Amino acid sequence: MFLKPDYNVEKLEDIDFSKLKESGKSVLFFDLDSTIMPSNSGAYLPKTKKLLDELQKDFTIVVLSNNTKQSYIDKVRLESNFEVISNAKKPDTKVMFEYLKKIGKTVNDAVIIGDRPLTDILCGKRACVTTILVDSITKDKENRIVRFARWLERLTIIYK
Ligand SMILES: [Mg+2]
Repeated sequence: MFLKPDYNVEKLEDIDFSKLKESGKSVLFFDLDSTIMPSNSGAYLPKTKKLLDELQKDFTIVVLSNNTKQSYIDKVRLESNFEVISNAKKPDTKVMFEYLKKIGKTVNDAVIIGDRPLTDILCGKRACVTTILVDSITKDKENRIVRFARWLERLTIIYK
């Protein structure tokens, strides 16, 4: 496979957003669960909320989630002051392309940030947008099975 992300960082805070801005990026697609919000919690951690608010000064923020639970997504929308797209069907790129077209941007303007190689990073690779893989926001609290599944999925990342 060819899933090496452009950047692979531990935490959202480790991403060099000013560098992204300098290189002309203006749209940040964020995965939701385990990337910017603990999975199925429906609430941002205060530090993440602060970071997202700060980033909105320089970027269009969009959540691109594969989650299909309407009540959950409604709750997330109430907590968010940016667009939250559910049922995105990543690694399919259609929803991402539609959104970029809608706001008059191209793949060159965009970055995708997520915790999963096979959905988030593959979607970004297929769309030719910059890809950033982050560790799960709740990495330290996950059980062994989840951690093992994450480890297995990361075997799809091939480093030269
Ligand atoms: Mg996720």
